[in-house]
Amino acid sequence: MSATVLVLLDHADTGALRGSVLELATAARDLADVAGGGAVHGVWVGDEPLDPALPVLGRHGVSVVHAVSTDADPHLTPVLAEALADVVADTGATVLLALSTFENKEAVARLAVATGAGVVTDASSVERDEQGRVVAGKTVLAGTWTTRCAVRTELAVVTLKAGAVVSTHVEEEAPRIPEVRSREVAVSERATRVRLVERTPTEPSDRPDLSSADVVVVGGRGTEGDFGPLEALADEIGGAVGATRVATDEGWIGHEAQIGQTGVTISPRLYIGVGVSGAVHHRGGMQASGTIVAVNSDPEAPIFEIADYGVVGDLTTVLPQLTEEIRRLRG
Ligand SMILES: Cc1cc2nc3c(=O)[nH]c(=O)nc-3n(C[C@H](O)[C@H](O)[C@H](O)COP(=O)(O)OP(=O)(O)OC[C@H]3O[C@@H](n4cnc5c(N)ncnc54)[C@H](O)[C@@H]3O)c2cc1C
Repeated sequence: MSATVLVLLDHADTGALRGSVLELATAARDLADVAGGGAVHGVWVGDEPLDPALPVLGRHGVSVVHAVSTDADPHLTPVLAEALADVVADTGATVLLALSTFENKEAVARLAVATGAGVVTDASSVERDEQGRVVAGKTVLAGTWTTRCAVRTELAVVTLKAGAVVSTHVEEEAPRIPEVRSREVAVSERATRVRLVERTPTEPSDRPDLSSADVVVVGGRGTEGDFGPLEALADEIGGAVGATRVATDEGWIGHEAQIGQTGVTISPRLYIGVGVSGAVHHRGGMQASGTIVAVNSDPEAPIFEIADYGVVGDLTTVLPQLTEEIRRLRG
């Protein structure tokens, strides 16, 4: 079923695309049926430099980018929602894909209320069924069930978790640079009732972003507050560092590192849980990980029920050995 599928192009203040955006473009190509006449359009909201991103977007099958300027700060979700609604109305798009971030989920919920769209958040897959409906897969009830949700409205909005799709290039010898269509959106007074007073970037880190990292090393109460050995392992394998709620509540690491029902939802290719029991509230945010490795001194710890590989042992002994062995193998 050919259609215009929109992809929200999340980017940093520098204009650098968030890596997982290209996964959305790959999913969008399947939904749009580009070979059958459909198209993938990007939506770039904000005045950051877009040109450097165009070649890579072209290689991933994006044919048009709608560059939207707003007369209010687009970091405010009501403003973002109105910008998206404007592009949807203009293009007649039937599907919008966005990354599953806190801001995007709030913005698409507002978009859904305004347009009557069906919305699925935190999806781990998206496809069309035989009737041409958009069907999104997601885990629910703290990761204990997997569901498939068919969107029955004309406009389907899906936020996909990072890592849900493997991004691929378009097989073309000379990929096209997407056409840029600029537009100004004057947002409503309602959208600006809250004013963004200040934005402070968090301390820059050399580690990947937790929500989109391929590898995540997670520490729990068993670390007793010493995240040093975890960080050493994460740095050796290029991973992000996450934590359970116990660890963040204790102040051992910032709350932005919390994974679980009331924290970040992750689906890395590799999750390594260290001194983490695997409580249901934590599982809800990591159960969709590709390969789960657990290091725990208690052989009865619930995390071993979902682990692909487990090490029963004291993390203060196991972690340094593991890091050292990986370092040796990598030469
Ligand atoms: C409404 C609600 C929402 C919640 N949301 C979240 C959430 O989003 N995320 C979250 O994580 N939690 C959440 N929780 C808390 C959750 O229920 C658990 O309490 C929490 O996940 C447990 O964290 P933990 O695994 O670090 O600690 P524990 O359950 O205490 O487990 C510590 C583990 O470390 C092991 N250990 C101890 N010493 C060592 C050692 N030296 N070497 C190796 N292993 C060792 C122990 O055997 C144990 O299995 C929520 C709770 C509620 C009620």
